[in-house]
Order: sequence, then structure tokens, then C-alpha cells
Amino acid sequence: MVERKQSGADVPGRARVVVVGGGYAGVVAALRIAGKAARRRVPVSVALVNPSPLFVERIRLHELAAGRAPRRIELARLLGARGVELVVGRARRIDAAAREVEVELADEEAAATGAAAAAGANGAAAAGANGAAATAHAAARTRRLGYDALVYAPGSAAAQEIVPGGGEHALSVSDAASARALRERLRAARPGARVAVGGGGLTAIEAAAEIAEAFPALRVALATRGRVGEGLSERGRAYVARALRELGVTTLERVRATRVDAHGLHLAPEDASAPGDGAADRLAAPGRLDADIVVLATGFRPAALAGGSGLATVAGGRLAVDRWLRAPAHPEIWGAGDAAAALDGDGAPLRMGCATALPQAAYAADSVVAALAGDAPPPPFRFAFAVQCMSLGRRRGLIQRVDPSDRPIERVLTGRAGAWVKELVCRYTIAVLRFEQLRPHRRGAPAQAPRPQRALGADGGERLPHGAAT
Ligand SMILES: Cc1cc2nc3c(=O)[nH]c(=O)nc-3n(C[C@H](O)[C@H](O)[C@H](O)COP(=O)(O)OP(=O)(O)OC[C@H]3O[C@@H](n4cnc5c(N)ncnc54)[C@H](O)[C@@H]3O)c2cc1C
Repeated sequence: MVERKQSGADVPGRARVVVVGGGYAGVVAALRIAGKAARRRVPVSVALVNPSPLFVERIRLHELAAGRAPRRIELARLLGARGVELVVGRARRIDAAAREVEVELADEEAAATGAAAAAGANGAAAAGANGAAATAHAAARTRRLGYDALVYAPGSAAAQEIVPGGGEHALSVSDAASARALRERLRAARPGARVAVGGGGLTAIEAAAEIAEAFPALRVALATRGRVGEGLSERGRAYVARALRELGVTTLERVRATRVDAHGLHLAPEDASAPGDGAADRLAAPGRLDADIVVLATGFRPAALAGGSGLATVAGGRLAVDRWLRAPAHPEIWGAGDAAAALDGDGAPLRMGCATALPQAAYAADSVVAALAGDAPPPPFRFAFAVQCMSLGRRRGLIQRVDPSDRPIERVLTGRAGAWVKELVCRYTIAVLRFEQLRPHRRGAPAQAPRPQRALGADGGERLPHGAAT
């Protein structure tokens, strides 16, 4: 049952901003919008929707899988400092015509909202309290959030389904639940058990190295199309190959994972007609990599919410956005992070990464505040890559210099220095969130904006003032 509820993001006289997704992009966007709006005295109320009450440090999930304790970051505390309302639930649909997001509340949230509603019912008619509580609970399971501006940042997930059987028989380091399940399997594994990691990109390499270092009694193999670290420079690839060798990781290159089952990975030579590099010779049985635990790191799949809501998507489901990070037909919607397809200078979608998500979120936040304040649009979003960073366990790392278009150049930092820089990068991502949380701002926005504000029409022009009931 769907019921419209007055929310913290629905205060008369304030523009309503909804941020979908509480990852790196969503949290930075929400905090920055709230902080900047307060500084500029633009009255807004901001709500952030996320399925979990905890922030997931996704770039450390391979560390979590290998047994390192994750830092506990409560979203409510992080966001509360800026007055951002946390709605714990999953956005199921964006109704762009009505400017509403339909949220399926998580159980705890539903219970809390249901209990609050039931308390009111109790005061009026104590005798019917139980029935009222049950009804209120059911009604509160779905909540609609109206918005004047929306930031779309629901991120991405593991693309396990790329390999048949992957969903049932493989784990990943892409989300917290899977990383935790992998940690339990690794801890329970007997000495000599085999771990197969499918994929040869940064995440696969980081996962294989981390597992091999933390569980030296296990036998870890990495199988990939092309070469391991295909996007790296020669020097970068050579260092990765050496580090993996030192950690005891076996590598199989130019093979394609065709299936996963309870016994391991099924592989085929990438090009059956090519002689190959002898990799297939190292398989235990022709075409099979036996394994007790299979980890797939075969890429990320963007959240399906945009496509499912009828919004234009590109690149396998990422929200299509223009050079201002706005959905072309809906300029009141901004996209940031893995779920949106911001374009690089050549017109290709930027690679998914924290490195690209954070600046997009900051840009989108500034644009939202500027638009709500009635300012002219900012210059288009621009992004230039500088480095790719990779951990290889806790004692080794690789910092690969790249050109502004993300192409590797022959400059690398390796070893402990590389590990330390990578660690600094991880800390920096949290420092960015804290900065947006703690940055000083003038408190107390006025009831009315000092300048006429505008909500955003499909043509980018003015529409209803904020807070108008929908
Ligand atoms: C092991 C690992 C290591 C990595 N290392 C690096 C690295 O070194 N450098 C780098 O640049 N990148 C790295 N990445 C990639 C990086 O983590 C992602 O690019 C980054 O998390 C993207 O941020 P985001 O905010 O767009 O999405 P996410 O961090 O995925 O956050 C999205 C949030 O939205 C939530 N959500 C999803 N659907 C909905 C919905 N329907 N409604 C509401 N909320 C929803 C999710 O639960 C999540 O909390 C790594 C990734 C992994 C897995």
C-alpha cells in the first residue's frame, strides 16, 4: 500500500532535494547541498535514501573479505550534522513526471515509522491501538518523497551474472554482504583449499592479492581474459606480475570464464584458434580451474533504477546525463557516480570509480544549489584522470600515472611507498565526507529566500516555487 507522508524533506517554503544512494557520491552531494544552501541562505530540506543505515567503504571491501574489521560509519550521524534526513529504504521507482521517488522502507525504518504513527492512534483510541499499529506499519512500508531537485547516485553492483552460475556459486568483493560471506568462507577453509578469482582488472587483482597475503595456507589463482592488469603500463603490469608471484598467486591469462559451479570455474581459451601462451596447460583438468571458493570480479553493473523508471540510459543502464550532469529530458535530475554516465573529453562514459564519483557529486551539489538560488548554470563538468591506485595486500601497492584520458604512462610508484599512497587515497575519500560534514557554515536558513528561487522545468526554465504540494 502506498501512502504519501509528510517528511522532513517536505517543509513548506523549502525546496525539497532528494538524493538516491548513500555511497561516496550520494553522501558528498547531500552534505554539500545542505551546507552550501545554508551558507547561501537558500532554504532547502534534503533527504537521502539508502538501503542500509551504515555507510559502506566500498573501496575497502577486499580488505573486509580478507578479515580486516570495517570502520563503522553511521549515515544518520554523518548526515545529521547537516540536518539531512536519512530515509533507510530502497528507491523502487522515480516518477519523473510527478517528481516523486517511491521508497520501499527497510524493516527497521518501517517499524519506527509505524510505531510513531501507532503512538498517535493510541492517544485517540487506546482500545484499537493494536489494529492501528498494524495498519500504520503496513501503510508506512512504502513512502513517496516529492522533490524539486533529485541527485541520482545509487551506484553499481557486481556483474556476477555475466558468467552463468556466477549468481549461485560465486562471491564478490563488490558489496558488503558478499564480502562478509566471502570472509566467513575463507576463515572456514582448510589449509590447501583453492580460491579462484575471475577477472584481471584492478578489483580482481586487489582481491587475489589481499586474500593470498591474509590466508597464506590457501592456494589462490587468478584467471582473466586478456592480460592481468590490461589497462596498466608495461612497468605497472610487470610489477603486478611480480607481486602476485611473490604472494603465491597463480595467474591464467587469455581465458574466458564460461561457467561457475560448485567445483570451480569453467574456462575456455579466449581465442580457440590462437596458440595462446600456455596458460591452459596449467589447468587441473582441460577447461576447468578447480576451486573450493570462487570470487568473480568481472566488472560492475550500474543500478537498474533509472532504466526501470523510464529514464534514458546508456552504457548498460547508467543514467544518461549531459555535460552539466543533468538528465536531458529532466533537468531537475542530476546524476553522479557509478550509476550515471558522465562523459569524458572524447564523449565516452567515464570509468566507474571513487575518483570520478566524488568530483561529480561535488559538481552536482553546487549545480543544485546554484539552480535553486536562481543562478546561471555553471560551466560544464570536466574531469581529468591523474593516477590509478591499487593495493596488493598490505605491504605492496601500485600507483600508475595516467594521462588525462586515463591512458597509462610509464611512471609508476610501487612497493611499500605505493601501498602507503593507496592507503592515503582511501583515507582521503572519508576525509572528503568529513570535510563536507564539518565545514563551517552559517546556521539557520531564513524562512524565505533572499532572491526569487526557481524550481526546474523540463526545459530548464522556471516552474513552481519550492515546497509546493504535489
Ligand atoms: C573492492 C573495491 C575496490 C575499489 N577500489 C577503488 C579505487 O581504488 N579507486 C576508485 O576510484 N574506485 C574504486 N572502487 C570503485 C568504487 O568503490 C566505486 O566506483 C564507488 O563506490 C562509486 O561510488 P557511488 O557513490 O557511485 O556508488 P556506491 O559506493 O556503490 O554507493 C551507492 C549506494 O547507493 C545504494 N543504493 C543502490 N540502489 C539503491 C536504491 N534503489 N535506492 C537507494 N539506494 C540505493 C547502495 O546500497 C549504496 O549504498 C573499488 C570498488 C571495489 C568493490
